Amino acid sequence: MFDLKDLYQEVIVDHNRNPRNFGEIEPPRKLLEGFNPLCGDRLTLYLNVDSGQISDIKFSGSGCAISIASASLMTEGVRGKSVEEAETVFADFHELLTGDGAEIDLNHMGKLAVLAGVRDYPSRVKCATLCWHTLRALLAGANAPVSTE
Ligand code: ZN
Repeated sequence: MFDLKDLYQEVIVDHNRNPRNFGEIEPPRKLLEGFNPLCGDRLTLYLNVDSGQISDIKFSGSGCAISIASASLMTEGVRGKSVEEAETVFADFHELLTGDGAEIDLNHMGKLAVLAGVRDYPSRVKCATLCWHTLRALLAGANAPVSTE
């Protein structure tokens, strides 16, 4: 039998081992650090926005498999999107992990849906959302590091 959970696990392992968009934009127009003290995840997000569109996004840092895979999937998911679209994706993703999930259509989530299983592990939700909180703060013009605590 085809097991969706195994496939999800495989994608997470792949994105952790070979993170996409890993590295720095030199020089980036915006950058911001994010920390998840509970797990020890640390990342730095690099971002270029042109005419309201995310033209380039990269990240560096270290952390658990969930945090790295999530950042990798996020950069893939929002690159080329408008800032407004990225906000919508984040709202859906956050609802997927922290809401009752009833209204979320996984088909619309694209690859981000592979992280749906994290909702069963509340202590890991911050690992998966750290990169998103950092992105939102960066888009909002924050220049102090983001902490999930
Ligand atoms: Zn973590």
